[in-house]
Amino acid sequence: MTVWVEVDLCNGCKRCVKTCPYGAVEVVDGKAHILENCTSCGACIPVCKQHAMKTDVEPRKIPDFSDRKGVWVFAEQRDGVLTPVSLELLGKARDLAGDLGQDVSAVLLGYKVSDLCDRLGEYGADNVYLVEHRALKNYRTIAYAKAVEELVKSFKPNILLMGATHIGRDLAPRVSRRVGVGLTADCTELSIDPEEKILLQTRPAFGGNVMATIANRYSRPQMATVRPGVMEANRQAGKKARIIKQKISLTEKEIGTKVLEVVREKKKGVKLDQAKVIIAGGRGVGSQEEMKALFSLAETLEGEVAGTRIIVEEGWLPVERQVGQTGQTVRPELYIACGISGAIQHRAGMLGSRYVIAINNDERAPIFGVADWGVVGDLHEVVPALTKKIKASKKK
Ligand SMILES: Cc1cc2nc3c(=O)[nH]c(=O)nc-3n(C[C@H](O)[C@H](O)[C@H](O)COP(=O)(O)OP(=O)(O)OC[C@H]3O[C@@H](n4cnc5c(N)ncnc54)[C@H](O)[C@@H]3O)c2cc1C
Repeated sequence: MTVWVEVDLCNGCKRCVKTCPYGAVEVVDGKAHILENCTSCGACIPVCKQHAMKTDVEPRKIPDFSDRKGVWVFAEQRDGVLTPVSLELLGKARDLAGDLGQDVSAVLLGYKVSDLCDRLGEYGADNVYLVEHRALKNYRTIAYAKAVEELVKSFKPNILLMGATHIGRDLAPRVSRRVGVGLTADCTELSIDPEEKILLQTRPAFGGNVMATIANRYSRPQMATVRPGVMEANRQAGKKARIIKQKISLTEKEIGTKVLEVVREKKKGVKLDQAKVIIAGGRGVGSQEEMKALFSLAETLEGEVAGTRIIVEEGWLPVERQVGQTGQTVRPELYIACGISGAIQHRAGMLGSRYVIAINNDERAPIFGVADWGVVGDLHEVVPALTKKIKASKKK
């Protein structure tokens, strides 16, 4: 596989030099030359207006996926209770399926869990692929991976989504390996390309400094995981799903692991993902002592206090109160950002908030770009004044 230059056609414009990601093209005496470090990636070929760049690499053919239909969601349940992210994903799956003109299906694995099918129907599933087996009672990697693999190979879905929970993060790569496809983990946005009708999977990349959109043209199903709290669940009371029961043969020997006891660690602390009001602080608050004003406002509004990674690192708040790419994803009715600049990694965790109020003394702070209301001012004056006003209005 090589790339070469038809020197007679080359006009030395240097487009290929600028495009080559490996610095493997140079122009000498007005003609392009390919250097030894060329990887034959082909990036220079479409940019050459003279058609002087040639290759013997055959363009990769996109297989025929016309038999791949449906948007599937892995309906994760623990002890017969569906995880909220499964319902959120069904909401997103409905939008995607609408754009594709296809069905939404939930994949429900477990033991004596059929009563969950109605709920899956109400949250958007047209079909539920139900696999019940004693060996699927508690999550075990091999057993669940085998069950999903068999379903995928038999029914050929177009898209398969899972929650980026502990279970989803374990199961999704296993399944993707078994069915021979790629996987985009921790997506923050999913949509359908209107022309190619493929899944566009957006997630933070390069340490969260850019958002990358990944598309998979060459294999099916297109697989992605999404963190809890990012998508929105939609319930349509009374909507029923068609139940498709599947049998599976599973032996303890092939599973290889045994659950001796399930020990649940009681989760301490706050449930930011369920808070209706969040008062969030950033470095602009100044110190742990000055966080008290935010707690006071939160108490007045019956909300929770959260913060940026910086203030967690400073020790002003515990880590379970961090919002953002490496913290929690929240979607309260009201998010009040106090002394927060609005870095992309922070915004990734709070963009689902219904209303955002930003208080910042720098009118150019990026947080104002995502706020519904902005107060340009010193938070040490604005926050106590706001608390006082709300308290007074409550007394009336
Ligand atoms: C891989 C990676 C992951 C990350 N994950 C996260 C994450 O999950 N969550 C997160 O939050 N960050 C995360 N970060 C860090 C992120 O990039 C930012 O550094 C951080 O969000 C900035 O925090 P801040 O807004 O508190 O501080 P700053 O950016 O320093 O902003 C402070 C703001 O306060 C304002 N201010 C100062 N004094 C006052 C005052 N008296 N009144 C009003 N306003 C005032 C300033 O104008 C400024 O806008 C991550 C970074 C990386 C590289």
